[in-house]
Amino acid sequence: MEYGCYVCNKLIKTGEKFTFTKDGSVHFDCFISTKRKTVHEEKQEYLRTLSLILDYQLTYLVALLNVKTDDKESQDLLRKRITTIEKESGDITNNIYNL
Ligand SMILES: [Zn+2]
Repeated sequence: MEYGCYVCNKLIKTGEKFTFTKDGSVHFDCFISTKRKTVHEEKQEYLRTLSLILDYQLTYLVALLNVKTDDKESQDLLRKRITTIEKESGDITNNIYNL
């Protein structure tokens, strides 16, 4: 599955941090730097905190996606953890998007 970033228009490569907004797929760095320019001064600190959390979540997600195992029970565990972190990073992404 290949996605393009709607900010820089480049293809998102495996291992790069990215997320999904209502506008489509976007690199983490492109998403945050664009948002930083439009968010009101008094919300900048809040944006900084949200972006830190999202950065950690996406780093964790990329790490989980890189775990390779043939063990069925391990695959199920990984799938569940990935679904959970995808949902949580989706929530933080929405918070940032709606700032
Ligand atoms: Zn980009």
